[in-house]
Amino acid sequence: MDEYDELLKLCGFQPGEAREYKPTLKKGLDKLLVTQDDVKFAVKERLPKCWSLHLEGMRKILGCWLREYIRIAVPTPEETRICHTYFPQPGMAYLHPIKLADPTIQVSIPDFIASFVGAAFFNVGWKYVEAAEREGCAIEQIGCSLNKIRYGLHVLGIVPCVDASIGFHSLCDDAALSDQLIHEWDGTKIWTPYRVRDIPFDGDPFEEINIKYFAASLEDGHRKAEEWLGIEITPEHKNEAVELLVELSIKTFVPLLEFMKADPAPLNANDLAYALLPIAMAMDTGYDYTFKAHEILQQELRTMVDEGKGVVPKGTPRVSWRILHPWGCPWLVPMCHELGISADFEEGFLLGEMQLNKSMEIQMGATDLYVMMAQILAMVSVLGTSIEYMFRSHRDHIRDYKIDGLISTGYRPCRTLEGHSLILARMIEDRIGIPCITPDVDIYIDRGDFPKERMRTLLETFADVVKRSKVQRSEQG
Ligand code: SF4
Repeated sequence: MDEYDELLKLCGFQPGEAREYKPTLKKGLDKLLVTQDDVKFAVKERLPKCWSLHLEGMRKILGCWLREYIRIAVPTPEETRICHTYFPQPGMAYLHPIKLADPTIQVSIPDFIASFVGAAFFNVGWKYVEAAEREGCAIEQIGCSLNKIRYGLHVLGIVPCVDASIGFHSLCDDAALSDQLIHEWDGTKIWTPYRVRDIPFDGDPFEEINIKYFAASLEDGHRKAEEWLGIEITPEHKNEAVELLVELSIKTFVPLLEFMKADPAPLNANDLAYALLPIAMAMDTGYDYTFKAHEILQQELRTMVDEGKGVVPKGTPRVSWRILHPWGCPWLVPMCHELGISADFEEGFLLGEMQLNKSMEIQMGATDLYVMMAQILAMVSVLGTSIEYMFRSHRDHIRDYKIDGLISTGYRPCRTLEGHSLILARMIEDRIGIPCITPDVDIYIDRGDFPKERMRTLLETFADVVKRSKVQRSEQG
């Protein structure tokens, strides 16, 4: 058995399935610049250390993402046209109707997948970033690694000229320049739906004018995709996408969050992000694998919770990553565990009771796809909502999931994430009284020059503070 077989096994492939898929895997990895040594690193070190691979459901979920990563580089023979969005993107329900309108169109969010799988599993994200930097993406122009990955994928020819690229980059500082570079590089056609960004500090993100504006803009994006791809997106396609979203919520999102309320939690923050995110992504390889993986995972989690088993011992203080946990550096999660705090959650994908009810109300009552998406994004997205609303959501998460500390990822290249991070950390410390830190860490890649020991020292001190604060709060009742 070589490292490729090992990789397929760790990603939940059955022996026959693995044999059949292996040539596609090798072809895809080769094109994606993943070497044999990178695969060895993934199977010997990265995957076993950072994800709960003793769970078959979890292995299969990683398999869903591996398939998506390979698909970027190896489309099916039928896929002749490409439609992409880029991260931050408007969600599965935006691209899925396009796939339904014509299954021979590849739909994907390649910069995200290249980070979520390429950087996280194989630590190759820096290769895409360096290619982008060689071709004009200097640090003073574009700081964000994700934007560099997206340009790098084009520069390297991994992603060819895209027939329709419809992201919503108005929220992203670096996106306009990346779009321009990509368009100049290979002629990719890009359309940018707009969204009101500057909502006042305590503004209502559901204000009708904001929702209508964003919804209309999303609809314009679909019109553009229809024109460029020569397709018609019918009401039936849109309804089917909404139905799938509701099914994913009911069968995957809601039950998993319920399991995570157990002490100890049965999954870590890496596991949780990979298990929850198919709901937000357009999976070009489909959702059958996801539903099957969740079915198995939920049975396994039920047993774990019933037996009181988890990633860490019961009573371990639990911390949450604010917004996005740094999946480019997934080793941070086991590092927290070594230091005696449990890194279980990722705020960006947590919904407290108030938000869960609101989300189901929006999805069940949806009469218009674009309004529904605009409402959901106003509710869950960190971008384009008000600081006060974000604070209230975090307050609910802290209460509902009994969170003892917050690691509010600082991401210096991004004005939006960095600004929110610092302000919210201060608000949470002052108003709720749980400890927060804002470490400077690259969410999307690990270049190998990351100061791991400095991070360990910082987390060590933070872990001590969280433990003491938990004791104090329980003494105070
Ligand atoms: S982190 Fe900030 S700069 Fe980077 S893609 Fe997201 S919004 Fe854009």
